[in-house]
Amino acid sequence: MWRLSVVAFFVAFAPVCGYVAPPPTKGSASPTRGLRGRGQGHFSPWAEATEQAEAEASWNPLGLGFALGMVIVLLTSSPAPSMAEDWDHNDIPGWNKKFPMCSQRSESQSPVDIKEVDASKPPQSLADFANYNPVSATQIVHNGHVMQVNGKFGQLRLPDGEYEVKQFHFHFPAEHKINGKLAAGEMHIVHQRKGASGTDGLAVVGILLSETNNAGNSEEIKFLTNLGFGSELPVKGEKTNNADMVDLNAFKAQLRSGFYHYSGSLTTPPCSEGVRWYVVNQTAPVTSAMIKTFKERFPEPGDARPVQGLNGRPVLLNHLSLAGEFDSPSLIEVLRQPGLNADTSLEAAKKRIKQKLERSMKAIDDEAAAKKKALVDESEKKSALLSEKINALSERRQAARLAQLKAEEAEAELEALELIG
Ligand SMILES: [Zn+2]
Repeated sequence: MWRLSVVAFFVAFAPVCGYVAPPPTKGSASPTRGLRGRGQGHFSPWAEATEQAEAEASWNPLGLGFALGMVIVLLTSSPAPSMAEDWDHNDIPGWNKKFPMCSQRSESQSPVDIKEVDASKPPQSLADFANYNPVSATQIVHNGHVMQVNGKFGQLRLPDGEYEVKQFHFHFPAEHKINGKLAAGEMHIVHQRKGASGTDGLAVVGILLSETNNAGNSEEIKFLTNLGFGSELPVKGEKTNNADMVDLNAFKAQLRSGFYHYSGSLTTPPCSEGVRWYVVNQTAPVTSAMIKTFKERFPEPGDARPVQGLNGRPVLLNHLSLAGEFDSPSLIEVLRQPGLNADTSLEAAKKRIKQKLERSMKAIDDEAAAKKKALVDESEKKSALLSEKINALSERRQAARLAQLKAEEAEAELEALELIG
């Protein structure tokens, strides 16, 4: 039973946790270009251990929930029947029974409702930091929780290092709201910092998908078509081969648009916090037919978690890092969330920085004053000494002069005596 629950936990944990799927075992599902078919797809035995044997020294800039630790599991048999038994999108309020972090009491959960701000500012682009590459021979997996594609699709460069794409997956409807509006769907590109493991060092790029039938054969539509959207997506527990190369650069336009950044959590159990979220503000198109094929696999209510409270968390526009997030205090643009005191922690951070500056300025002033006083004291001492010396010298000079006068006098007397004599 314990073993079963560990396996189930692992499977549950897999979709959005930066879980690393090893390449499919050779021969188990070799992709056939252009051929879509399921059935090759039973979860082949994945000998899975986390990428690094152990996480490096705990890295925890926000003090948020990185406490989960590591689960190293060896999957030796087909786990398909136990999938999705631990949690379900039909019972989101019940998640916290097995995954306490999913509780309402957790304060930094995802998704959230993002309030849009001044759009006139020139957008800083995530595309400047993302370096994505095409990957062949990929598969789309219905893992019972989300529709997911594993693969090494490239990197995202953040201030503390390279984050590698581990997988991307889809939610319908969307999870993040913008100005209270929910898009048709949302794609999550899950990255993990090089060397990190478990739920440590995760960064997720979210791209909202909005329903339209006027996008023609755009790059984004081609990308989704290649995965089986609009034709056929795998059923629960199975996977299908993607016909063509998968290249996240299909979303270049979205990556070049502005983005929102905040610190949140996984949106599925175990809901671990400390996840860096980057939600781009330009949506990508998805057709009604594509949404229909997804909903056939994930009927109402779909596979999305509703928005969670921000609880004072700041959401920044076009900034890669929050105050102190990567040990850099630079920040300026803040998206204030009305009614949620979104600026509280930011204001506190600013205040701390200001106080620190004031303290160090005062310390500099005090030190300068002390040095000045010491110099004055020293020069006063020196000048006193100098005048003593001058006095001594002038006394000696006077004495010498007196002596000279006396000598002259004596000489004159001698001369007078000689004249007389
Ligand atoms: Zn997700």
